Amino acid sequence: MIIVRTKYLPPSRNYSAINLFGVFFVHPDVAVTKRLINHESIHTAQMREMLYLPFYIIYIIEWFIKLFFKGNAYSNLSFEREAYKNEGNYNYLKQRKHYAWVKYIRKKKIAKKPKPRKRFRRYINIKK
Ligand SMILES: [Zn+2]
Repeated sequence: MIIVRTKYLPPSRNYSAINLFGVFFVHPDVAVTKRLINHESIHTAQMREMLYLPFYIIYIIEWFIKLFFKGNAYSNLSFEREAYKNEGNYNYLKQRKHYAWVKYIRKKKIAKKPKPRKRFRRYINIKK
C-alpha cells in the first residue's frame, strides 16, 4: 500500500485519510495505525472487486440517499459500516467474502442478549 502524507487530502479536516484507487492520503499530523491501515485496506478490497470507478459512483449515490436518513450520512454508508465494523479484525481480509459490503446497506437492529433465568443459574453450581 502506498501512503502519501499531504495537508491537501482529504480536503476536509474532519477526515484523517482518504483512499483513492488504493493510494492512501493522510494528513501530516495523523498517526497511521495498524487499525487505520486495515480500515483503508478494506476499502481497497471493496474498490478492487468493483473495478474501482463503480465503487466511487455507488459511494456518492449512497451518500446522497443517506443524507435523508436519520444519523450521519458518512457513517451510514455500507462501505464505511463494513470497514468500521471490521477494522479491528486483522484477519478480516483473509476471510472476507466478495461484496461483503452489500449486507451493510440496511442497518440491522441489534438484538438484546437475553438474561439467564434466575432458576437456571441456581442449578449451575450444583456439584455431583
Ligand atoms: Zn472509511
